[in-house]
Amino acid sequence: MAEKNVVSTGSTGEARPANGFDYAPAPESRSIVDIKASYGLFVNGEFVDGGGKAFKTINPATEEVLAEVAEADAADVDAAVKAARRAYDRVWSKLSGRERAKYLYRIARIIQERSRELAVLESIDNGKPIKESRDVDVPIVAAHFFYYAGWADKLEYSGYGGGNPQPLGVAGQVIPWNFPLLMLAWKIAPALACGNTVVLKPAETTPLTALLFAEICQQADLPAGVVNIITGAGETGRALVSHPDVDKVAFTGSTEVGKAIARAVAGTNKKLTLELGGKAANIVFDDAPIDQAVEGIVDGIFFNQGHVCCAGSRLLVQESIAEELLGRLKRRMSTLRVGDPLDKNTDIGAINSAEQLERIRELSAVGDAEGAERWSPPCELPQHGFWFPPTIFTGVSQAHRIAREEIFGPVLSVLTFRTPAEAVEKANNTPYGLSAGVWTDKGSRILKIANELRAGVVWANTFNKFDPTSPFGGYKESGHGREGGRHGLEGYLR
Ligand code: NAD
Repeated sequence: MAEKNVVSTGSTGEARPANGFDYAPAPESRSIVDIKASYGLFVNGEFVDGGGKAFKTINPATEEVLAEVAEADAADVDAAVKAARRAYDRVWSKLSGRERAKYLYRIARIIQERSRELAVLESIDNGKPIKESRDVDVPIVAAHFFYYAGWADKLEYSGYGGGNPQPLGVAGQVIPWNFPLLMLAWKIAPALACGNTVVLKPAETTPLTALLFAEICQQADLPAGVVNIITGAGETGRALVSHPDVDKVAFTGSTEVGKAIARAVAGTNKKLTLELGGKAANIVFDDAPIDQAVEGIVDGIFFNQGHVCCAGSRLLVQESIAEELLGRLKRRMSTLRVGDPLDKNTDIGAINSAEQLERIRELSAVGDAEGAERWSPPCELPQHGFWFPPTIFTGVSQAHRIAREEIFGPVLSVLTFRTPAEAVEKANNTPYGLSAGVWTDKGSRILKIANELRAGVVWANTFNKFDPTSPFGGYKESGHGREGGRHGLEGYLR
């Protein structure tokens, strides 16, 4: 069967093996989610109307309008920050860690109870395959709340704050669209555990699960104002991070916006953490277990349509095995199913927005123009919505833009190397420094190479593994500060 090549099929757009067998559609039902026609802002424990303007959020797999969402203006941002300040002064900073932990545990359990609803809504609003939102995103979201609930009454043992760590106050948090709920959890769970209150702004293309999370806060009886969710685009984010009564700014998103925020915050007393872009090298040595490496490469770049800051978007393969590895990689890519995000068999869902699709197309065209060779398996894409086939570029040199810039899509740039020193040099030849992967049979080589790579996270013989106990974050233009683990507390403590 492995040798049988693959052809694409008809209307649903997925690639299927031409082996006589076929996948029946296995769509997850949408009926579990109740999407309202319009949403307000979640301020001081209630949904309120925004200052007037609204925007639409759509399903990127169909272009169907899902809902109208309020666009918070400066006055709305101010109201949310005031609510967070009141909640901080009057309630949250006065509760013991043990009491705060009870709320976090309660939120974690409700997330588990409503996990199917959260996963379906995430896939509809974001375009990611249900098997990822169901099996990866939502379980890790719950795990983050459980994990930081455990820290809430043990902060004096965290190693931060000289044995008596204090919260900062009000945190203004801005997150991107690629992991809407997961980024929310990375931000809100440690902030609340440390005793801060928050105003969080989700990305404009994926606001719905954050608004469902607001309902979960109500269900958990979280005191009013401890969590406030304001929706809107860049202007709303700018108003939030530059609000004078915000004590902490936590941002995940592009390096360009991160730099603008760093400038806006410079000279204030605000504490800042930035989780920005990446261009990770996934390095495969000639002694690597090749089939596992192929799985890791696929997971590294095609997971979540490649909309992953730590995606293994540069494959560095040792020259002596390049041909064999690429043959196996192409065969494996031919079995990837692109299509309906709610189908449980889908591997690659929709690109999140028309703008992101345009950027992926533009950079891929640059790859063609620079002389790299593009390959995708036969793959018929759905008629509506935003789609891009899994793609690799070979013959890429370090000077190529597709080797340097973050494409943030299912596009892999393949480079080769001859010696370990050359691999390290090429891997580190990037303004980013978020993650990297090493594939080799030798433990000593893993340790040596990992030491030499200038990346915040290095995976060995695996890729894209996340755990709430493990710190995550970057160097250089990938940002500063860590989220997750004990280190994730530091950004929220005085
Ligand atoms: P983006 O920077 O365009 O937007 C991120 C968020 O910032 C959105 O909510 C947006 O509305 C808001 N925003 C835009 N302009 C703003 C401004 N001037 N002030 C304040 N807020 C503003 O990024 P994106 O396109 O949504 O996300 C993709 C990027 O995020 C990629 O570069 C990716 O690598 C990065 N990312 C990094 C991590 C990490 O942990 N390092 C995780 C996920 C995504």
